[in-house]
Amino acid sequence: MELELQPLNLAGVEDKRPLVIAGPCSAETEEQVMDTARQLAESGIKIFRAGVWKPRTKPGGFEGNGLAALPWMKRVKEETGMLTATEVATPKHIEAALEAGIDILWIGARTSANPFAVQELADALKGVDVPVLVKNPVNPDLELWIGALERLNGAGIKRLGAIHRGFSSYDKKIYRNLPMWQIPIELRRRVPNLPIICDPSHIGGRRDLIASLCQQAMDLGMDGLIVESHCNPDCAWSDAKQQVTPDILEYILSLLVIREEIQTTENISALRKQIDLIDDQLIELLAKRMRISREIGQYKKEHGMTIVQTSRYGEILDKRSAQGSLCGIDQVCVRQIFEAIHEESVRQQIEIINK
Ligand code: PEP
Ligand code: MN
Repeated sequence: MELELQPLNLAGVEDKRPLVIAGPCSAETEEQVMDTARQLAESGIKIFRAGVWKPRTKPGGFEGNGLAALPWMKRVKEETGMLTATEVATPKHIEAALEAGIDILWIGARTSANPFAVQELADALKGVDVPVLVKNPVNPDLELWIGALERLNGAGIKRLGAIHRGFSSYDKKIYRNLPMWQIPIELRRRVPNLPIICDPSHIGGRRDLIASLCQQAMDLGMDGLIVESHCNPDCAWSDAKQQVTPDILEYILSLLVIREEIQTTENISALRKQIDLIDDQLIELLAKRMRISREIGQYKKEHGMTIVQTSRYGEILDKRSAQGSLCGIDQVCVRQIFEAIHEESVRQQIEIINK
């Protein structure tokens, strides 16, 4: 389904990269909301975010102030002139948020992973003209993300945007949520006019990662940033480790280098030719590797051996990821490449064995 989109068209917000949305993870108290909002407005932020209803992994945590926080958001609007944004997860949330004059709604990662929930939200939005931002589902499933956008679009929501907040993984490394940049890049290719906003706070999970993630998002051509900012981050009731003060946010934004999106210089096209050449060689080499792998498959078949020899596989992954890191390529990336190559090798050997 082709999405029928309109620009977000946000009143009072300049149409330039990056579109910045900032504010605390949660609206905790009226003072915290107003204090943070005033500071953000002073540093030029035009859109204020705060979670009014908070999805929590386990019961017992702070689940948001709900309806009580909506008048605070209204006050932010009236006293600072900023637009306001919050997460909605049920039709009731939508109704209350719209009634309180919230300008932008977003659908959280846990909700966008559930087609039933998204459809209920879409139905509740029929006939309403409000910008809706859809966070990627917690699992790395581009179709599910696009599906959520399609459901909203089907209900007549044309001012749509996507928020890239990274993907859950059991095995946590540097990031709280793996960025898997190839997924938002593929989203851009599939739905070219859809604004994509990066959420470095939930990707990083740590405040020291925010600046570099913001820059990376800009370098990848993303349209905006949604950053968690709190007047007193260490005391935040949710996501304390990843929030930054409005001052720090201003500093991070001032350091950003916004590069031209479309490069047309001859210089670039010469370099691209080199890349194409290397890609040709990569494919040829991979094909050669697969041919040898099939010969090994034949040998294993004749000698009654199993296809996967775990120790050999582990050795390849360790050796090549270490080698990659010596050459300046991220170890995790090299591992993933070799995992994919190995998977295809195994598939080809299975074919041989079953012949
Ligand atoms: C949030 O923005 O505070 C939030 C809960 O995010 P996510 O849905 O991406 O986890
Ligand atoms: Mn949060």
